[in-house]
Amino acid sequence: MDFTWTSDQVALREKARTVAEDAVNKYGRFNDTWMNGYSREFSRELAKHKWIGMTWPVEYGGGGRPPIERLIVGEEMISAGAPIAASWFADRQMGPALISYGTKAQQDAFLPQMLSGETTWCIGMSEPNSGSDLASLKTFAARDGDEFVINGQKIWTSFGELADYCYLICRTSSDGSPHEGISEIIVPMNTPGIEVRTIKDMTTNSHFCEVFYTDVRVPASNLVGALGGAFKQTMRQLEHERGGIDRLVSNHALYKMALEQADRKDALVRQEIAAL
Ligand SMILES: Cc1cc2nc3c(=O)[nH]c(=O)nc-3n(C[C@H](O)[C@H](O)[C@H](O)COP(=O)(O)OP(=O)(O)OC[C@H]3O[C@@H](n4cnc5c(N)ncnc54)[C@H](O)[C@@H]3O)c2cc1C
Repeated sequence: MDFTWTSDQVALREKARTVAEDAVNKYGRFNDTWMNGYSREFSRELAKHKWIGMTWPVEYGGGGRPPIERLIVGEEMISAGAPIAASWFADRQMGPALISYGTKAQQDAFLPQMLSGETTWCIGMSEPNSGSDLASLKTFAARDGDEFVINGQKIWTSFGELADYCYLICRTSSDGSPHEGISEIIVPMNTPGIEVRTIKDMTTNSHFCEVFYTDVRVPASNLVGALGGAFKQTMRQLEHERGGIDRLVSNHALYKMALEQADRKDALVRQEIAAL
């Protein structure tokens, strides 16, 4: 296996670094920027460079490029702290989820807006009593004619306040085992009945939100994939999140920052750095 960067990859990295540095000068530097650095304007710039949906198949409007190229751009953006959050979730997992499980109508409606950096998506998964044990979630979507009526509460919904759409994981049936009866539904965040309360965390960031759904009506055609059989879809969707470089590169940026500020003449400090 050849680990040498190709000249095209080196050029892409240099270009991404320049764009990221310019963005930091313009918008500021953000830690965990895929979560905290929110700028729709910069998302549109990413789109102009075709750096959203880089790896999505060409037939869905994506770049059809190899994952290593997305990794290069992501590494540069996140280590510089450029504000990529407004389009990151859509690029990383909502777009790929719709490509895998969405209807043609959903793909036609939502993918182009993601690729142009125009829309922000949030993920409505966790609930006050359903975190790691996601299958215990209770938010319920009841079918009523050609609509779903959604009631329940989500928590830790990053960008709940700013997003245009929520990719909601909810229950459409209480029958069977906990992993059955779970469905994924696209919910426009301006739908009546949605109340969003932001949560400021101890680091002062405020992307987390509580989202309350009271008789929220969405078209039944917003169901993504299998009715009541979406737990596997959700696990697949989360692979895009867990398999990503986001946290690793964020941590590396913090490590480098700590290194710059640490008194490395002190042996104990050196030991602490080594332990990182
Ligand atoms: C930065 C960040 C962004 C997030 N963004 C979103 C988002 O956009 N949308 C969303 O829906 N959610 C989001 N979340 C929430 C996240 O998905 C949940 O935090 C996660 O599912 C864990 O749930 P919890 O916090 O309730 O922890 P819990 O499930 O209560 O777990 C707490 C601790 O107990 C341990 N534990 C749990 N069950 C067991 C067990 N059976 N045996 C042994 N140990 C156990 C866990 O490993 C953990 O250490 C985000 C979280 C973070 C940190």
